[in-house]
Amino acid sequence: MISSLSIKRAAADVGFDLCGITRCRHLDRNERFFREWLEAGHSANLDYLRNNLDKRFDPSALVEGARSVIVCAVSYKNAFSMGYDGDCRTKIASYACNRDYHKSIKQMLRQMFALLRETSPEMEGRLFVDSAPLLEKQLAVDAGLGWIGRQSLLVTPRFGTFVLLGEIVTTEEADSYDRPFDGSRCGECRRCIDACPNGAILPSHCIDASRCISCATVEGNDTADIRLNGWIFGCDECQSCCPYNRHTPMHGNAAFDPRFDPSSISSGEWLGMTEETFTARFAGTPLMRSGLERLQRNVRRNIPDD
Ligand code: SF4
Ligand code: SF4
Repeated sequence: MISSLSIKRAAADVGFDLCGITRCRHLDRNERFFREWLEAGHSANLDYLRNNLDKRFDPSALVEGARSVIVCAVSYKNAFSMGYDGDCRTKIASYACNRDYHKSIKQMLRQMFALLRETSPEMEGRLFVDSAPLLEKQLAVDAGLGWIGRQSLLVTPRFGTFVLLGEIVTTEEADSYDRPFDGSRCGECRRCIDACPNGAILPSHCIDASRCISCATVEGNDTADIRLNGWIFGCDECQSCCPYNRHTPMHGNAAFDPRFDPSSISSGEWLGMTEETFTARFAGTPLMRSGLERLQRNVRRNIPDD
């Protein structure tokens, strides 16, 4: 048994802004909903979402004997999160201006796990950052961190939607668990739905990936059918409009300081960039996942016709 207080202290010590603990359980409702979403064809070309469906809804299928999921969140809100000047045609989602969060958060979780094992050496578990089949947003709701907004993102009362998540699935029981977040605070608001340039936000809190700029620019092979609205990697439009982001603080963890200013790199500079320069300037950022060729394709798609 591990104390919930020591878990939360360790999370804060390594730089997380929020931490909640929930019991492992099979997420039946989410499984039904996700299968319907896949059947409806909304996953576009993101075929990997079909993998490991049996594990995705049950954390104990990922870690034998798992009892608890510790869900941590860190704010990354920066100077670019709330939008760019109207004529910017080289917009990049604000999370992607930083070091790749998979690396930063994995490192923080490793440090946290090591801290917890100092007092609970019997603790076993696995660390996850957006890369394993784990339904992290629902687990965050179960751990009391926030609710899932109409644009399908986690909304936290203190830090809004500009948060990144990491989890520890462990065999240990906690001495107390957090209450699931109660209901949604979206109320009558529909700003994210209205703000989406392609109408990609569907009813029941889900996204049509085939119409989403973020999916198309980061992982898609063809963006010809949708408006990119100046975005060349990701899209923050359904976040920057959210009233819960208006008064939230800027990130406080230096690991999430931006490494470059997207508005200072012109379309011409992108199109003339060599692979060597690209790697030298953006190594370690999420842009490497997409690659220069795809970014240049997106830049070309954003150049207005004469
Ligand atoms: S990321 Fe952009 S394109 Fe995708 S749902 Fe949000 S606003 Fe729409
Ligand atoms: S913009 Fe409005 S509807 Fe969308 S997540 Fe924020 S509060 Fe909810």
